[in-house]
Amino acid sequence: MRHRLVLAGGGHAHLYTLSRLAELTARGALVTLVTPDRYHYYSGMAPAMLAGTCRPQDIRFDVACLAERGGGSCVIGTAHRIDTVNRSLILQDGTGIPYDTLSCNVGSSVVLPSPTQANVIPAKPIDGLLAARNRVRELLAEAVEPSLLVVGGGPAGVELAGALWRLARDAGRPARVTLVTGGTLLAGMPPKAQKTARHSLASRGIAIHEQTRVTRFGDNSALLPTGQELPFQMALLATGVTPPAIFRDSGLPVADDGSLLVNDRLQAVTHPELLGGGDCITPPDGRLTRVGVYAVRQGPVLFANLLARINGTSLSPFSPQKRFLQILNLGDGSGLMIRGSWVLAGRIAYLLKQIIDYRYMHHYQRCGERNAPS
Ligand SMILES: Cc1cc2nc3c(=O)[nH]c(=O)nc-3n(C[C@H](O)[C@H](O)[C@H](O)COP(=O)(O)OP(=O)(O)OC[C@H]3O[C@@H](n4cnc5c(N)ncnc54)[C@H](O)[C@@H]3O)c2cc1C
Repeated sequence: MRHRLVLAGGGHAHLYTLSRLAELTARGALVTLVTPDRYHYYSGMAPAMLAGTCRPQDIRFDVACLAERGGGSCVIGTAHRIDTVNRSLILQDGTGIPYDTLSCNVGSSVVLPSPTQANVIPAKPIDGLLAARNRVRELLAEAVEPSLLVVGGGPAGVELAGALWRLARDAGRPARVTLVTGGTLLAGMPPKAQKTARHSLASRGIAIHEQTRVTRFGDNSALLPTGQELPFQMALLATGVTPPAIFRDSGLPVADDGSLLVNDRLQAVTHPELLGGGDCITPPDGRLTRVGVYAVRQGPVLFANLLARINGTSLSPFSPQKRFLQILNLGDGSGLMIRGSWVLAGRIAYLLKQIIDYRYMHHYQRCGERNAPS
């Protein structure tokens, strides 16, 4: 019988497998990709898309095309539950897809406060930032100096604030951009990086509120614990990400954030036929920083292990690197490069990020209609 491999989610950790899928189908595997959308968006360039310096189609991969080109099939749908007894992936619409091996790369998203409101938009899923960009353009055209709020002062929050500033500047219209963060800006990063980011944003007139939190969102204002109300026409939330509830809801062993607990071979600790990569897993040594770097690095290991499952051979371990390179796009043509305690800011850092991002995109964008209208 042919080995049934199901890939849930076409995120950064599955792109490598999708690009080499023909090697799995050539061994007789029947491969099905389940994805809510035929496109997967590359988060590294999401701030540039928000800023309007690149187009949505420049930052997305046609994962359906990659699956089909490799001899697999693509189901547009959302994985909802894993029936581990009958080995079937249950989709939101109730459809069951049987598997011999299931690999999950369903990522993470920012959890919104309840009730949700149209002008409070999460930084992830990334395609929401496209709607945000279009809305800001409307606001810039219609409002006198719209107020734009970013909640969260980690790398994503800093980049999004810089991107909103850039969007307004390039439109030739004034906007009031404010960032609120519960801790210090870029908490956990070297003091030089924090200082540089603070100076970069403040020098462009972006107001920064550190060590405070938004306790409640009103229709057009955010309440701080002091009672101060920050007005906004649109707010972006970059307050940290959470994996979907699918693993917890399926009775699988999970970490405190609901991510799947895996061994060093990226297999669920209780189910060797279930693998995973990216933001939705937690390896044995504990949670990794939720950055795409790890998802990308897990890609080749995941591919090798899926191949091993099909061939009935032994699986390889993944050992996460302790330090990784991060380059933030500050929105003004400069970058902030951080590796461990080492920091470099300026134009060179930005250009290096451009090179890394465009090489990555070029590698996986060979499939599909890159120039489709946005
Ligand atoms: C604004 C912003 C900028 C960032 N910049 C960087 C950066 O420069 N460098 C960096 O290393 N990290 C960056 N990150 C972090 C990075 O986004 C994540 O760590 C990375 O996306 C994780 O990759 P992933 O493949 O695990 O998940 P995702 O990128 O979230 O991909 C998951 C995929 O699964 C799909 N999916 C979701 N749920 C389901 C489901 N139930 N069924 C089927 N499919 C599903 C989604 O549609 C998506 O295609 C940034 C984050 C944000 C918010």
